[in-house]
Amino acid sequence: MANGEKRDYYEVLGVHRNASETEIKKAYRKHALRYHPDKNPGDKQSEEMFKEAGEAYEVLSDAQKRAQYDQFGHAGVGSGGFSSGPGFGAGSPFGDIFSDIFGDIFGGQQRGRGKRGDDLLYNLEISFEEAAFGVESKIDVPYNKRCGTCGGSGAKPGTDPKVCPTCRGAGQVRFQQGYFSMSRTCSQCGGEGRVVESPCPDCRGAGSTKDQKTIPVKIPAGVETGNRLKLGGEGGQGTKGGQNGDLYVAISVRRHSVFTREGNDVLCELPISFAQAAMGCELDVPTLEGSVPLKIPEGTQSGKVFRLRDKGIPALQGYGRGDQRIIIRVETPVNLNKRQKELLEEFAAISGEEFHPLRKNFFKKVMDIIS
Ligand SMILES: [Zn+2]
Ligand SMILES: [Zn+2]
Repeated sequence: MANGEKRDYYEVLGVHRNASETEIKKAYRKHALRYHPDKNPGDKQSEEMFKEAGEAYEVLSDAQKRAQYDQFGHAGVGSGGFSSGPGFGAGSPFGDIFSDIFGDIFGGQQRGRGKRGDDLLYNLEISFEEAAFGVESKIDVPYNKRCGTCGGSGAKPGTDPKVCPTCRGAGQVRFQQGYFSMSRTCSQCGGEGRVVESPCPDCRGAGSTKDQKTIPVKIPAGVETGNRLKLGGEGGQGTKGGQNGDLYVAISVRRHSVFTREGNDVLCELPISFAQAAMGCELDVPTLEGSVPLKIPEGTQSGKVFRLRDKGIPALQGYGRGDQRIIIRVETPVNLNKRQKELLEEFAAISGEEFHPLRKNFFKKVMDIIS
């Protein structure tokens, strides 16, 4: 994700890292009023600043997202839809914040009748192997389903919505604010231009009911924690002809008991006994696709890395696969009994420095330094 060039959210709003909620809200309001597109028509830079401030506020105004951001930076929150905890989250960055902060001043934001559906974020946890090879999953997404009883109008069957008396069907009401003549969404009809006099009994006038849909998701091979998939149009349903929102699936990969990942390489630490290391052996080592034999040569040292070509993770973009790296850890034996100690003493007595070239070399260098 191209989060690298993003500015720090605190910097964007010009507040301290320990700024209070009120300070953040105030700072955002100041920025948004200054850079609002209605005040700076056609000014690209203002538009960017406006968006940037909105994104910063979206995160910093939410205690949980702010904590995630403080800990992980932009990677912790990303952009687009956000969730609060597992499951789904609040919707598009602007809708709620605007009505929340500006109330009526910029109430004319949602011009026209259609309202875009919310973007949703779904956190999907998958196993290490599923991330490596991809998986087809299904996720349940709540959505607003058009009410079958009233066909979405919200009016009781047999009745029709009436033209709104306040705005006479325009959906907007004009008013004067200082030197500005502004229009805002009609509060009686919510911008729809029509009001329901006898609400539909099934949806209570909303025109939609809450339902759940199951969406198949194909997770490609090679994904990592932090990757996001965008399923266009699978988010919240737009109303009155508005577009549907998008669904974002945020991937988080569970830890594996023996493997870790570095880029597309799979790493595995393999403990062997010092006898195996000294005399060599052949062992079965685990890979993502079952175990394979590995020959450990005589005199293998701790830290030695064996590379199994193309046994790693397929590249998410492009071709090829990573390798598996086996890192040898020679394990010093513990809890020795009397007999074992006797044998080791005997072994030590007949094993001079010619059997330990590393040690010999090290102490030779030490002698050079101190003499
Ligand atoms: Zn209905
Ligand atoms: Zn109205």
